[in-house]
Amino acid sequence: MIFYHPDLDFRFSEYGIDIPIVDDRAFSVFNHLKKIDPSLSYFDPNLTPKITMSDLLLVHQKDYLDRLFGSEAELEYEMLSCYELIDQTGNYHRYNPKLAEKKFKDALAVILKQIGMTYYSTKFSLDHGFSYFLGGGMHHAMSFAGRGFCLLNDIVITIRKLQKENLIKTAWVIDVDAHKGDGTAELTARDPSIVTMSVHMKEGWPLDSGSVRDPWFIPCNVDIGIDVGEESEYLNKLRVGLNELDKNYPRPDVVIIVNGADPYEFDELPSTEKLKLTREQLLDRDTLIYNFLLDRKIPQSYVMAGGYGKKSWEIYFQFLKFVWESSSKRSEISSR
Ligand SMILES: [Zn+2]
Repeated sequence: MIFYHPDLDFRFSEYGIDIPIVDDRAFSVFNHLKKIDPSLSYFDPNLTPKITMSDLLLVHQKDYLDRLFGSEAELEYEMLSCYELIDQTGNYHRYNPKLAEKKFKDALAVILKQIGMTYYSTKFSLDHGFSYFLGGGMHHAMSFAGRGFCLLNDIVITIRKLQKENLIKTAWVIDVDAHKGDGTAELTARDPSIVTMSVHMKEGWPLDSGSVRDPWFIPCNVDIGIDVGEESEYLNKLRVGLNELDKNYPRPDVVIIVNGADPYEFDELPSTEKLKLTREQLLDRDTLIYNFLLDRKIPQSYVMAGGYGKKSWEIYFQFLKFVWESSSKRSEISSR
């Protein structure tokens, strides 16, 4: 099942923010999919579960949440720092408040809706085996602050909320975004019920030195750093990582896949340039994870995470097309 509604899109340009996430990347994926599966329809945004303060407190520190939901100036400060909108000289960077049509308070409301959708979609996967939310994946958000375009960590909020409701006990997070999932790692460091794996650029933001001694290197249970020029080894390393999870940790009740498209060779965010996978390599990446979890009958829930520029929609689309084709084949075989 694919979950999408345009109201759930976070359109940076509406807030005067100039980050090359194409505002309509999720919309493009949805529309291209609709051409092959006309039965696809928008999710009714009124059904999005409300995320409450007590949900957020399962993950984030109270003083950080007090600032986010405090005065307009406090929220503005948190947004400017999370979306890196001020440079070292104190001037606006990639940000022009004069172009903003909406307030940061509206942005916060959309982000809360996205968290609600990640939760809803993951809950759906528990009964149906697979779900994909065309949004979410805010894996850099830490307990104490937002970071790297991620204000609140929808992934860990979802898992802790499902745990609290006794719907799951354990979860894995498989993060294949180009940037290391450092927020998820920080939030789950002392939580054995959530096992994390991150496959990321070995060197480059948030790991500026590329060393495990980097102050921002917060370990996951399994970390796979891909060095510059190691693209041809990517799939093998991913396979080794998946086998390590399989061997060393009990089967989880659900897996959330942080399905970033930013390792793509045509990604337009400068900080992703140290990892350049082709379209084919990315399809192999996604089908490897999909089949690994399908073979083990582990529910899999996907979120979009990073993917910047005009071509990023292609990566999400090719994978969802594969899922659609292979699941229609399976149902054809079982109905015979
Ligand atoms: Zn990323």
